[in-house]
Parts: sequence; structure tokens; C-alpha cells
Amino acid sequence: MSDSQQGRVALVTGGARGLGVEVCRQLAQAGMTVWLTAREEERAAAVAAAMAGDGDVRPARLDVDDPDDIAALAARIERLDVLVNNAAIDYDTDARALTVDLDRVKRAFDTNLFGAWRMAQAFAPHLRAGGHGRLVNVSSAAGSITEMTSGGTPGYSVAKLALNGLTRMLAAELRDAGVLVNSVCPGWTATDMGGGGRPVSEGARSVTWACLLADDGPTGGFFRDGRPLSW
Ligand code: NDP
Repeated sequence: MSDSQQGRVALVTGGARGLGVEVCRQLAQAGMTVWLTAREEERAAAVAAAMAGDGDVRPARLDVDDPDDIAALAARIERLDVLVNNAAIDYDTDARALTVDLDRVKRAFDTNLFGAWRMAQAFAPHLRAGGHGRLVNVSSAAGSITEMTSGGTPGYSVAKLALNGLTRMLAAELRDAGVLVNSVCPGWTATDMGGGGRPVSEGARSVTWACLLADDGPTGGFFRDGRPLSW
């Protein structure tokens, strides 16, 4: 357990399933107090209770599509050092850019881009206040413009591309406050969304790396497993 993380507080969106669970566990094991959030309060409570042996994990209800939910949680949580925007929907492998239903794309944007954006706006004052803030947008190589050589997964990919742009802007706005803002790809990981891939603990490690950066670590970057990715 790293002493430097003691007393620091993290919040993970979509924390009761897939990568989010493991990110919560790894941050708790590193010594942080972790807010494990989920759309269903009972599920957050059950998953947090199962992590009692890993550290201080606290459940809370949070739907990132709901501004009132976010405002209520921002008012309830006094301190936040690490925000992990992990929640996402609709890896739309069945769709193509020319034919996809744009209402479906808008729904993906609401969670995958605006959910993260709402959270950043609501919790930026908390992250600024602590002096060692970390904001991690869980992105994907699918959002890498250099890898966009087909029309596949259009809503998901363009939302992640936009999320990466948001990372750059937030990094610039929060640089003076010592808040490090990065996009991270967990790699293809065996969750409900991934449907196969590497162990969840490994994908989560890619995310927690950016949460545990030292104060002189990078900001405004895009990484997988601690190594830079092309935008
Ligand atoms: P899952 O589909 O397994 O889990 C998604 C999580 O997001 C769930 O906890 C879900 O909660 C939550 N969520 C969805 N909508 C909302 C919302 N409106 N408010 C709050 N929570 C919400 O996905 P993964 O764990 O695989 O993905 C986690 C992140 O990693 C995502 O950002 C994804 O894009 C990214 N990623 C994943 C890859 C992979 O191979 N798995 C590869 C690259 C990136 P609920 O249980 O309530 O549905």
C-alpha cells in the first residue's frame, strides 16, 4: 500500500460492473477512500460491501446522464482527489457511419461524452482544492483518429474521439491547479462490453496508472499501459 495515497479520495462512475469494479478495488488497495458509484444504489452497496477487505469503499447512486444526480453527489462529497469517468454504453459493432440511427448516436454521446463532461464540471472545484487532482477519462483506441479507417462502431468511436478532445481542453484549464487530466485506453478487456480480451485486472491497471501519477506526471495525454497512444 502506498502511503502517499492515504487520505486521498477517488470516485469511479459505472463502478459496479466490468472495469469499474476493478478500478475501485485497485484504488482502495492503494490506500484511497473510494466512492463506488452505480445507477442502482443496491448494486453499488452490494459490490462495495464485497470489497470490505480491500479498503475503504463507499457506495453511492449515480447516473451520469442525470445532472440532478451529479449535483446531489457533488454537494454530498466534501473531498475528491481522483475522478474516473469510466461509465459508457453502446459499443455499436452492428452499425456503420453512413446508416446509423443518429438518435442512437446522440444517446451514446449523452453518456460517453456529456456524462464525463458533466462530471468534470461538477467536480472540478473538488479536484482543484486538493492540489493533487487526477481526472481520468476512460477512452478507447476506437476513438483514435489515426485508427479510423472504416465506418465501424460510429457512435462509440466518435464519442471517444470527442472525449479525447475534452481531455486536452480540461488538461489546459486545470494545469495551473496541479490537476493531471488524461485519457486512457484499457485495451481490449473481458467485460460485458469487451466480450473477450485480456483479464479485467490488467485493463483496470491501465486506468489506475493514470490515477496514481506523481505530481510531475503527464497531463493532456492518451495512454494505454502507461505508454502514449496516437490521437
Ligand atoms: P461494461 O459495459 O462492462 O460496463 C459499463 C459500465 O458503465 C457499467 O458499470 C454501467 O452501469 C455503466 N454505465 C452505463 N451508463 C451509465 C450511466 N448513464 N450512468 C452511470 N453508469 C453508467 O463496460 P467496460 O467495463 O468494458 O467499460 C468501461 C470503460 O472502458 C468504458 O468507458 C469503455 O468504453 C472503456 N473501454 C472498454 C474496453 C473493453 O474492451 N472492455 C476497450 C476500450 C475501452 P450499469 O451496470 O448500471 O449498466
